Amino acid sequence: MRTSAVPRGPVVPSRMSKVIPRPSTVSSSSFTSNDSTEGSNIRVVVRCRGRNDREVRAKSRVVVDTSISKTDVAVRIGEDVSSTNIKTYSVDHVFGPEVDQVMVFEEVIAPIVDDLYSGMNCTVFAYGQTGTGKTYTMSGDDSTNLDTCAYEAGIIPRVLFKLFADVASRGYDYAVTCSFVELYNEELKDLLVDEDEAPKKLRLFDDSGSSFNGSKRPMTPSAGSGVTLNGLSEHNITSAISGLKVLQNGLRKRQVAATKMNDYSSRSHTIFCISLAIDTDGSGEFITRSKINLVDLAGSENIGKSGAENKRAREAGMINQSLLTLGRVINSLVDKSPHIPYRESKLTRLLQDSLGGRTKTCIIATISPASVNIEETLSTLEYASRAKNIKNKPQVNN
Ligand code: ADP
Ligand code: MG
Repeated sequence: MRTSAVPRGPVVPSRMSKVIPRPSTVSSSSFTSNDSTEGSNIRVVVRCRGRNDREVRAKSRVVVDTSISKTDVAVRIGEDVSSTNIKTYSVDHVFGPEVDQVMVFEEVIAPIVDDLYSGMNCTVFAYGQTGTGKTYTMSGDDSTNLDTCAYEAGIIPRVLFKLFADVASRGYDYAVTCSFVELYNEELKDLLVDEDEAPKKLRLFDDSGSSFNGSKRPMTPSAGSGVTLNGLSEHNITSAISGLKVLQNGLRKRQVAATKMNDYSSRSHTIFCISLAIDTDGSGEFITRSKINLVDLAGSENIGKSGAENKRAREAGMINQSLLTLGRVINSLVDKSPHIPYRESKLTRLLQDSLGGRTKTCIIATISPASVNIEETLSTLEYASRAKNIKNKPQVNN
């Protein structure tokens, strides 16, 4: 077990040890193994949960088949079983209801974490309709309880455990910081400031002229990106557990906001960012810097559908500008458009260096298997299969 190699953090409680990801059995090179084009830096996967109690009670049929192949998902769109009633979508990997948190992490996320050590910035998005498992996939069930999140722990806790185990076993001198931002109604909020502190206004500004000088100074989450979020608190973490505590603090703040307002959590995006600086050559300087953004997006039902509906929804303030722009940015990248509209929303500005740039990006599209959600499921799968076409060369930013 790798925990014994972690020298700096507190001893991991025995129940938590179940959370610790096993050493990855998936090599970095498998990142692109299912991609048709060499050098593709975006991976799109689909995760379909089982039917929930409500769907079962409503006798809503299962219309999604995740068993046909590792990379295809089929949706039955009509009553009779004929080939014209089946729509099939291809992505890099399809996970059915039988797939647990460990398997998702090992297959999709562990190879991305390995890329951090070569200075690559990475972003993982959970995209999908509300109630399909975005938060479950990203944070896990009941992440506010350290003792019970073990088996159900999502990607963020597992990234933290793998990261600290890896840097310790490689013997690097390192610094890890994290930040946690929420974006609601195009307003940015720091989820890690104390309740009694006056809320600081977070402002985004471009600083593409600044360059990294290699000194062991505190990092900003946007190190190397050209976009800075002014006023954001950065938290040094020295172990996976200390990182989990930071995560829990932020999730609790979000919960408080959610209880005050209907639809709050389905309309907000959260970005948990872990920044890493490592002294890879023993020179006493942090030579390699990288970060991973773990993004739990607003519910995709907030995008709206046709243009006319979009216009009305926008006027009524019902549409999520950042989610809409993220879709447009991805489509512009796919179409190789000369203009990529990063600047049209705060989310895409914040993540500009991780979308379509020379970084690794992973989109986990979450869906429900039940016929009652078929419209949203088809829309999510259209988005996912379209996003899969982005191709860029990986870049190292040190
Ligand atoms: P979202 O964040 O997309 O709105 P949640 O992550 O809150 O959805 O998931 C809704 C419910 O479904 C939660 O109770 C969650 O635990 C459960 N759930 C989602 N996906 C899975 C899964 N793959 N396995 C088990 N339970 C799941
Ligand atoms: Mg959620």
